[in-house]
Amino acid sequence: MTGARYPWPDGKTSAAVLSFDFDAESGFLFREPDKARRSLGDLEERRFGPRVGVDRILRLLDRLELRATFFIPGWTVEHHFEACRRIRDAGHEIGAHGNIHEALGFLDEEQEERVMRDQLEILASRLGVRPAGYRSPSWDVNVWTPDLLKRHGFLYDSSLMGNDVPYDVPTGQGPLTEVPVQWLLDDAPLFRHVYGATNAIADPGRVLQMWSKEFAAMHAENGCFVLTCHPFVSGRASRIALLDDLVACMRRARGVWFTTCEEVARWHASGPAPADGRPAPARPTRAPAARSGARGRRRR
Ligand SMILES: [Zn+2]
Repeated sequence: MTGARYPWPDGKTSAAVLSFDFDAESGFLFREPDKARRSLGDLEERRFGPRVGVDRILRLLDRLELRATFFIPGWTVEHHFEACRRIRDAGHEIGAHGNIHEALGFLDEEQEERVMRDQLEILASRLGVRPAGYRSPSWDVNVWTPDLLKRHGFLYDSSLMGNDVPYDVPTGQGPLTEVPVQWLLDDAPLFRHVYGATNAIADPGRVLQMWSKEFAAMHAENGCFVLTCHPFVSGRASRIALLDDLVACMRRARGVWFTTCEEVARWHASGPAPADGRPAPARPTRAPAARSGARGRRRR
């Protein structure tokens, strides 16, 4: 595409990724361990994800013939293995997402290193997955985290908001690709009920309007639309219908590359990509055929 702000493969105008953070009870166990010992209510709210939400999402993705990215904490793999296995066997990308969803702001560098080793060991031994990507729990990232990810062989991170196209985060061992996120495209602040919080539960119709407006504007800006949903939040019936409607709306635009975080990262890493408005240099025009952490049939 001539004059594009960011050069996507095969002359596409923008990229779109559906991503799901399969936390289950893990974040609650880490943040409120005392309450987690007694509050069946909070635990069950989160168990809706593995019990109902994941399979609803998998059925939707199958019907839409879309491949998505799931970021899964080690704890979820160990305690909801069958749901994780179904995600893997359906051919979706699996990325790392902490062990017990440890918010990195609570960890020093040594603790973070240990948590990193533990989560990679669980993904490898239980699911046979070596993740290309990482998403930090609660999008909480320390200044040393990119170096740690690079040392552990990650291709990309997807937790930062510094751009709306993929970009490089410098580390001592060369750049780490960032596949950026943003709060506007996260289901939790819109749909989760939290006592004392100022947000009310949003009408799915309003969210459809918000997300489709953001998509249309990002498409015009050659952006990378990364939606982040949680099975225990977006697995609710009317929110699955919302995702269905959103994809239908996005498919009416021409030139959208529906893909995964990993494929976006591989594309970005395959050549220099100016993300600051400068004209793009020449680069390969075909999408890489790379994937890991996923089996099964190819999806669009
Ligand atoms: Zn999470």
